Amino acid sequence: MTSFTILALGGDGIGPEVVACGLKLSDAVASQAQIRLHIQEDLLHGAAWQAYGTFCRDETVRAAQAADAVLVGAVGGPQWDGIRVAGGPEMQDGLMRLRKALDTYAGLRPARAWPALTALTPYKSTLLTGADVMVLRELTGGAFFSEPRGHDLRAGKRYAFDTTAYDESEIARIAHVGFSLARSRRGTLVSADKANVMESGMLWRQIVSEVGRDYPDVTLLHLYADNVVYQLARRPADFDVILGDNLFGDILSDQAGAIAGSLGMLPSACLHGLPQGRERRPGIFEAVHGSAPDIAGKGIANPYGTLLSVALMFEYAFGQPLEARRIEAAVATALEGGWRTPDIGGHHSTVAVTDAVIAAYRVIG
Ligand code: NAD
Repeated sequence: MTSFTILALGGDGIGPEVVACGLKLSDAVASQAQIRLHIQEDLLHGAAWQAYGTFCRDETVRAAQAADAVLVGAVGGPQWDGIRVAGGPEMQDGLMRLRKALDTYAGLRPARAWPALTALTPYKSTLLTGADVMVLRELTGGAFFSEPRGHDLRAGKRYAFDTTAYDESEIARIAHVGFSLARSRRGTLVSADKANVMESGMLWRQIVSEVGRDYPDVTLLHLYADNVVYQLARRPADFDVILGDNLFGDILSDQAGAIAGSLGMLPSACLHGLPQGRERRPGIFEAVHGSAPDIAGKGIANPYGTLLSVALMFEYAFGQPLEARRIEAAVATALEGGWRTPDIGGHHSTVAVTDAVIAAYRVIG
């Protein structure tokens, strides 16, 4: 029997509640798919700060590196937001430290329209038919990490600056992921940049085109990032994979998320590239939402984003795309059956929704 290790990091706020549901679903899927799961649990970010005085322990980093997958709830909360510790940006945030340590440069943020939730979106249902977008965001470079950055006083005025810089290998590796994803989906890749006004955008466009020569079966379209946001808002069903740098990918994935009906519906995977053959590096799987301190402990957090992240985990960490499709089908069945937490207009609890998905999965599987 194949076995995999999951490092489960609930984090803060609603994080532990949704991760417990993710593990419950993982157990159900594993037993049906003849997989043995070893679950390790640890603290992250605020919870780690309270216990150990650091946002992410070295032990946690080592356990993540040794695991097959890291399942994360959410991190953060007002009581920790102002704390500054020695070190770079990754030391201020447990999740950023893990992403850096695992070099998870590829952020997969799928968003799809769920017919049961169309009324919660700003769209007419005709515009959402078949809408299923994968935003691929570069996660470890660009505007959020490049140097120099800082703030000081210039000519008596407060001044702040950031840099957007990429080298060709950073662009090429994320482009390969984008083309491979497009090849496994509907064969179209839209690359978003600002090649008209940014030097890094010109290099981005050039390298993506060069990488594209290896994927003649994928249709590549370069668009300016502002135009992608506009077109995505108007006709989401026309997009397949959208590739963006760290900043544009951040914005585009939120825009794409509008088709799903709620922030609580969105999953994500942070990967060190797509798995190649037998070689697999641990990825981080987490819902897109934050720690939602306003509803923590009430048992009403929407677990769908985490359950869909479990689907990504079975697909990309465990090499089980069929199980991923079954989990997604189970989510659709549960939604159609009216299983909803309050944020999507229902009255069910986090656990009740999870149990409904597991029951639907068992019928499908
Ligand atoms: P948030 O996503 O936590 O919450 C925004 C709103 O959406 C809140 O009203 C919340 O109740 C609701 N919401 C979010 N997830 C939900 C779910 N699963 N079910 C039902 N309702 C849900 O964003 P915020 O309030 O801006 O941030 C709170 C904390 O989370 C901050 O400390 C922030 O830094 C952190 N944060 C963490 C992550 C992450 O861990 N990846 C992402 C975003 C924000």
